[in-house]
Amino acid sequence: MLSYKHEPFTDFSKEENKKAMADGYKVVEAYLGDEFPLIVGGERITTEGKIVSYNPANKEQVVGIVSKATQEISAKALEIADEAFKTWKKVKPEVRADVLFKAAAIIRRRKFEFSALLSKEAGKTWIEADVEVAEGIDFLEYYGREMLRLKDGAPVQSRPGEYNRYNYIPLGVAIAISPWNFPFAIMAGITVAAMVAGNTVLLKPASTTPIISYKFVEVLEEAGMPAGVVNFIPGSGAEIGDFLVEHPRTRLITFTGSRDVGLGIVEKSSKISPGQIWIKRTILEMGGKDTIVVDKGADIELAAQSIVKSAFGFSGQKCSACSRAVIVADVYEQVVNRVEELTKALTVGAPDNDEHFVGPVIGGAAYKKIMEYVEIGKGEGRLVIGGTGDDSKGYFIQPTVFADLSPTSRIMQEEIFGPVLGMSKAKDFDEAIEIANNTEYGLTGAVITNNRMNLEKARDDFHVGNLYFNRGCTGAIVGYQPFGGFNMSGTDSKAGGPDYIQLHLQAKTTSEML
Ligand code: GLU
Repeated sequence: MLSYKHEPFTDFSKEENKKAMADGYKVVEAYLGDEFPLIVGGERITTEGKIVSYNPANKEQVVGIVSKATQEISAKALEIADEAFKTWKKVKPEVRADVLFKAAAIIRRRKFEFSALLSKEAGKTWIEADVEVAEGIDFLEYYGREMLRLKDGAPVQSRPGEYNRYNYIPLGVAIAISPWNFPFAIMAGITVAAMVAGNTVLLKPASTTPIISYKFVEVLEEAGMPAGVVNFIPGSGAEIGDFLVEHPRTRLITFTGSRDVGLGIVEKSSKISPGQIWIKRTILEMGGKDTIVVDKGADIELAAQSIVKSAFGFSGQKCSACSRAVIVADVYEQVVNRVEELTKALTVGAPDNDEHFVGPVIGGAAYKKIMEYVEIGKGEGRLVIGGTGDDSKGYFIQPTVFADLSPTSRIMQEEIFGPVLGMSKAKDFDEAIEIANNTEYGLTGAVITNNRMNLEKARDDFHVGNLYFNRGCTGAIVGYQPFGGFNMSGTDSKAGGPDYIQLHLQAKTTSEML
């Protein structure tokens, strides 16, 4: 087994890669608008209710239609997954990992198709789509290896005359509820982490982006996953999400999404249903209100580039996005001015080619919410640039910057999840860190500084799960920068990290007298 290395990114300035992407679109166009069934126990099931997935850059275009799972079908899927667990948990970890390695190889071969599908279904630019497909491959390669590392348990001592062992065993049925903003990578990551550990999975993808998950479950099947191990059941949160979270046979819930839905899962999963014999485990990754702090004496160009890229990549719809910049007074004007210039140069448009840095936001509800925040910002601070949107064809919002905000303003406190950046001035570095810490979240952050002592102060005091120095605050890489946050950002778990697979396992001690 080769040691793990992350999947390289594609250089789209090369003609051959542009051509490969055009070919990827052709593959996707052949199934665009098609209908896809549920997959339960390997069986294809079509229901009356449907979920329609639209292209956010072109709201007339249907990317695909999926059947909607009912409570009855979800209950059946749970029963099937519960049954499949009895055999899957006994399949050797090596064999389970092989399914992941083969799936990675299949996706690597179909990389441009998956990127093209992401651009159609989630409105990702080519670069963002490519990075996400690479991350999905990384999760498969990394978690497979992690399971191989854990398969024999951990060492414990034995006294003379006894033999003690400490092994990791799976938990049971996992409900994987995945987000629309990384509809491939996070969907695949949370699903296969549970699966490779020996659990069986009910995958409920975000209703805005179900097609790419269907394609992924097909890949798992092709890679040798037995029927019933991962079941594909898109559906409404209120109808089947809550039902599954509350079900007595659910053992684990793995979720990435909003704070409010995450807290709802905490509450519902903590109630014991009749017949339930365990305490459910939850792995939750929720929101962020992530800050880049710029120190005096910092490289202004690096600061502005890092802020703009982290704020507006994928239209600011990453939990890790820089939605706040806190600048020490001495360099405040310079940084604001350079951020304005760089933002002015960004173009917004459909991601059908690699011309635009900013694509659409995910849909009508997101568009409306973000535009409301733009209005709030106009009342709270100085509009530096942007502030307009156009939803006539797709959901496009100009990258928007507000400066001179109070650190307690709504723009600086609430998660907007769109291309809106707030900027505040701090009198010195200590105050900048205090402001950076003044939200209920704690996901990512970055510090741009040339002062070693301030860098170390941030390392100690800036309370976020992913802290970056002299770079932006997005783009964590599996196995290099394990990802996940503190406080209201989640359950302190780290996707793509060395503790992640254990979260899907329980340790069993056996002690034999010799
Ligand atoms: N892991 C991604 C990053 O580092 C963000 C994931 C998310 O938005 O949930 O940018």
